[in-house]
Amino acid sequence: MNDLASSPSPNADGGGASPVMRGIRGRCPRCGEGRLFKGYLKVADTCDVCGMSFHGHDTGDGPVVPVLLIIGGIIVGLALGLEVVYEPPVWVHLLLWIPLGTLLTLGIMVPLKGMAVGLQYKYRSTEEETRPGGV
Ligand SMILES: [Zn+2]
Repeated sequence: MNDLASSPSPNADGGGASPVMRGIRGRCPRCGEGRLFKGYLKVADTCDVCGMSFHGHDTGDGPVVPVLLIIGGIIVGLALGLEVVYEPPVWVHLLLWIPLGTLLTLGIMVPLKGMAVGLQYKYRSTEEETRPGGV
């Protein structure tokens, strides 16, 4: 299926939202309506509205690095602050930071993965092989 020939251009609809913002919302980066994910983090095969194939839009471990940096920075900062001010026992740190880190990670992974797919779509990184001339 040729995605570009049979469907509207990326900026022709979606209320003016960029493909990146559509991805962050978990929507198709082209039409902004279809669901980007099937399940929690699995990218769908095609858009259920415009039919765009998401083949090749697997971001791999790309969104994990920002998650580690952002969540790690938040947790370490909070843990150090708590330790300096209150000096609580270790079990308090474990009770606070493991659940908080898990919840923050689960909450931020979907928008970051959607953003990565939106960036791939915007910069056409998955269509390089199909371009004429193969360059
Ligand atoms: Zn779509």
